Amino acid sequence: MRIGIPLETLVGETRVAATPETVKKYVAAEHEVCVQAGAGLAAGIPDAAYREAGAALVDAASALSADLVLKVRRPAAEELAAMRRGAALVGMLDPFDRAGLEQLAGAGLTAFALEAAPRTTRAQNMDVLSSQANIAGYKSVLVAAEHYPRFFPMLMTAAGTVKAARVVVLGVGVAGLQAIATAKRLGAVIEASDVRPSVREQVESLGARFIDVPYETDEEREAAEGAGGYARPMPQSWLDRQKVEVARRVAQADVVITTALIPGRAAPTLVTEDMVASMKLGSVIVDMAAGKGPAGIDGNCVLTEAGRVVQAHGVTLVGETNLPARVAADASALYARNVFNFLRLVLPASGETPAQAGLKIDLEDDIVAACLMTQDGQIRRK
Ligand code: NAD
Repeated sequence: MRIGIPLETLVGETRVAATPETVKKYVAAEHEVCVQAGAGLAAGIPDAAYREAGAALVDAASALSADLVLKVRRPAAEELAAMRRGAALVGMLDPFDRAGLEQLAGAGLTAFALEAAPRTTRAQNMDVLSSQANIAGYKSVLVAAEHYPRFFPMLMTAAGTVKAARVVVLGVGVAGLQAIATAKRLGAVIEASDVRPSVREQVESLGARFIDVPYETDEEREAAEGAGGYARPMPQSWLDRQKVEVARRVAQADVVITTALIPGRAAPTLVTEDMVASMKLGSVIVDMAAGKGPAGIDGNCVLTEAGRVVQAHGVTLVGETNLPARVAADASALYARNVFNFLRLVLPASGETPAQAGLKIDLEDDIVAACLMTQDGQIRRK
């Protein structure tokens, strides 16, 4: 099968969907790999490394017209136009964006969105949400430290003592846990909040304090259990009490990192303008939900502006929407392995007759069925 790896065209996207390591494995399985010249440069991978791994270096049109195209982001309209009807596509394709899926179906692609893989043990090595959120969580702390006009660690120097930074992390999934671990390594004092009670132990094991908001009704307890490892919207009664507890911590904080998301829904609003105004001059908020908030709000904080760094009430608000792209080499290395691991489920073994779209699509396989977004001109999303 001819596998194409185009250069990503979205502004600011530095990642690439295959590395020399994974290219070698595709070539060893007797696939022909075509990498667009320059596709890996922003991730620190020269063309020569792909050539040495056995790939042919081609132009965009040739990479996009392959039987199977590996992408990081959903193809733009001009990229879709260059793809073959009946070809297969694997990438992060925004499974909740119906209009985007219609475009993929309209282009006649068999498209797999890796974000839709279930959170199961078998799917762990192809879980792009985890691999990229982990990187984003790490980078969020470094970005905060960059904007924060003080030290993170407590320091005792001849010129006097410097206090440790107080960091509040809101939402403790994969990104939040890595943010806690990274802030801890930098010497900060950390508190964290999440709707899911199972998180408390993880927070405490990383040396941070869990912001306790007890559940008072069965409805609250049930909602807090979530679904499939993900959060569900919490009843307003609990959110109101959480707001009071979080507001107290935010007012004391030097840095707030928000990561709260609910799959398929707008990100919850956790930081109000009053909370921002209560923070000390020079404090920093990094809003990792930037670009995912409800209508009129960009992230978990009402003052976040997606894609921008802004100041409000003397606080710096960071609304970067693609933190993994700022760690391009490792983000690509992990993403490319996720893609390779997924493809093991659908690529025919050498010598096997390729089925539909050249792939064997076993809908009995829960991972394949969950990731399949479009096929034969139709949306197949489960
Ligand atoms: P996510 O990115 O969907 O959400 C981030 C966090 O925001 C979650 O912890 C969520 O509970 C929290 N949140 C939502 N609403 C909130 C609110 N109002 N206030 C505070 N926090 C709020 O989550 P994720 O990082 O994708 O992880 C979800 C879960 O899945 C985690 O428990 C993770 O450990 C688990 N997981 C399991 C596997 C596996 O078993 N293979 C793999 C990856 C992740």
